[in-house]
Amino acid sequence: MEVHILTLFPEMFTAPLQASILQRAQERCLLQVHLHNLRDFTTDRHRITDDAPYGGGAGMIMKPEPIVRGIQEIQARFGPAYVILLSPQGTVLTQDLAKILAQRERLLLICGRYGGVDARVQAYTHTELSIGDYVLTGGEFPAMVLLDVVGRLLPGVLGDRHSVEEDSLFQGLLQGPQYTRPAEFNGIRVPATLLSGNHAAITQWRRRQALWTTLQRRPDLLQRVVLTLQDQAILREFQQAGAEPHVQ
Ligand code: SAH
Repeated sequence: MEVHILTLFPEMFTAPLQASILQRAQERCLLQVHLHNLRDFTTDRHRITDDAPYGGGAGMIMKPEPIVRGIQEIQARFGPAYVILLSPQGTVLTQDLAKILAQRERLLLICGRYGGVDARVQAYTHTELSIGDYVLTGGEFPAMVLLDVVGRLLPGVLGDRHSVEEDSLFQGLLQGPQYTRPAEFNGIRVPATLLSGNHAAITQWRRRQALWTTLQRRPDLLQRVVLTLQDQAILREFQQAGAEPHVQ
């Protein structure tokens, strides 16, 4: 996948792209990231990218011309891209949306700053995405979040050591508790099933725990997920007992 990022602060991306999984994905050519400085798409001597809002008020608004020129020139050079404006007014990014985005060949992420972006830019984008119901100072961290979320879903990026399907939210549920050595830590033991070597029992235990964790922490997710009859029976059991599932 090719990801283009149009930003006033390309340097903000340096460290995240040079560490860990995202770095390896680029080295292995599974992910290519191109940073574009928005100022390079200005035409005036002072390379201005923002201006005062019409109608008055505080803050500055990002001018449409450099952004739209960037969108057009980047696509003319690299090919058509799915253009995403990062914005707190956008659709909130979810794991399901990330799966769809991971199938695109080329993304172009536009990072706003200051008071936001002139509304006329919308006509040149495919969608607006938010990373959550809070406001950041700029679209750079949201773009990094999107890049990380989508990047780890690309085939081969995480390798065999990790399965994204088992992570929280991939199949709509939260993942249950996980443990590693030692088998006993400060008097707290790892649930016996996990030490049993019985794979069928472990799979069942994990599903039960995932259902329990989701019911406790995010019952809203249960409305949207496809549950087997067995899942439904387990949930009924939890609801009737009102107690923690049997963890051993
Ligand atoms: N005045 C704007 C917010 C501007 S914040 C409004 O109320 O909608 C400045 C920039 O930060 C935005 O243009 C956007 O690119 C980015 N940003 C802020 N919060 C974000 C969020 N939750 N998700 C994605 N981008 C966000």
